[in-house]
Amino acid sequence: MGNILIVAEITATGGIRESSYELASMARKLAEASGRGVKSVVIGSGVGDLASEFASKGGGDTLVVDDASLANATAETNNRAIRAAIEAADADLVLISNTPSGWDVAPRVAAGLDAAYISDCFNIAVEDGALVFYRRIFNGKLDAQLSAEGTVVATVQPGATEAFEGSSEGSTSALEVSLEGLQTQFVETKKADATGVDLTKADVIVSGGRGVGSEEKFPEVIQPLAEVLGGAMGASRPVVDAGWLDHPYQVGSSGQVVTPKLYIAVGISGAIQHLVGMKGSNYIIAINKDPDAPIFEVADVGVVADLFDIVPALTAAVTAAKG
Ligand code: FAD
Repeated sequence: MGNILIVAEITATGGIRESSYELASMARKLAEASGRGVKSVVIGSGVGDLASEFASKGGGDTLVVDDASLANATAETNNRAIRAAIEAADADLVLISNTPSGWDVAPRVAAGLDAAYISDCFNIAVEDGALVFYRRIFNGKLDAQLSAEGTVVATVQPGATEAFEGSSEGSTSALEVSLEGLQTQFVETKKADATGVDLTKADVIVSGGRGVGSEEKFPEVIQPLAEVLGGAMGASRPVVDAGWLDHPYQVGSSGQVVTPKLYIAVGISGAIQHLVGMKGSNYIIAINKDPDAPIFEVADVGVVADLFDIVPALTAAVTAAKG
């Protein structure tokens, strides 16, 4: 049996992503239940201090791949570093956050090792001595349980577990990785055009999902309720994928993580990737015509109704109440 390797992720602002500490707490539970050890790798430029911090906060013995060229890492450079770390750590379970950079590199690592790749896990457990990986399928309607032989590379949903708290034993050691002969070269980072939407600062968010049906219905139905409540408009991913609203409006694991005082989910089913982005809201109202929609499981108030009846009526009622 091998060890567990946590791939810690460095954010654009130069810290360790919170989800890496969640991987640490998950890894420690799995290690205790399976007899594995916990090791980590931190990859970047000038990341020695971050690696020491991670080692003492759940990461355990931490390999540090530190090279000036890694300030602008690519999936190719990360892949090389992770592959080297897997070997050095003698790992048979590799945990990577299910984030854009995680899902960029994880399949490449697994394919290179001819290992199993299990993406988007919301839980990993040890059952009867074996690792069991849980992920949601069919838009969150079913939970699948998977097991795999040999080395497994798994990505884990941010928010799937609590972050590690407290301190851990752990040292850091440098890991040399050859970065010669790369096929991809970093060119530049371009900031997306600002649209003026910053959902992370809004106290009230009214989000529309695929149930809203079309681009025109957002300014007609969703925006007026957001405005009368003094809030901002948000959206689920299919809305953004369809081009009805821009990406800064997207709430969820590949969009914004928001914690407003009031979150109103309209025509949104409640897939785990959406819930990850809004379940920390103080008060959640869900409007959906399907009484079995998973969004109702996290809602403080659930309204089973056609959104085109209820939302304009709600907007009118709030307008009238405000005088
Ligand atoms: P649907 O699941 O199609 O739900 C539409 C809902 O509208 C249904 O529940 C239906 O009952 C209801 N409805 C329809 N008509 C009406 C009506 N007239 N009145 C009332 N209710 C009505 N999703 C995100 O949202 N954010 C993310 O960041 C995100 N990241 C992802 C990352 C990855 C790697 C993957 C694989 C998926 C991601 N997703 C994300 C997609 C996610 O899995 C779901 O597909 C998505 O959240 C579903 O969006 P939805 O609820 O709007 O659509």
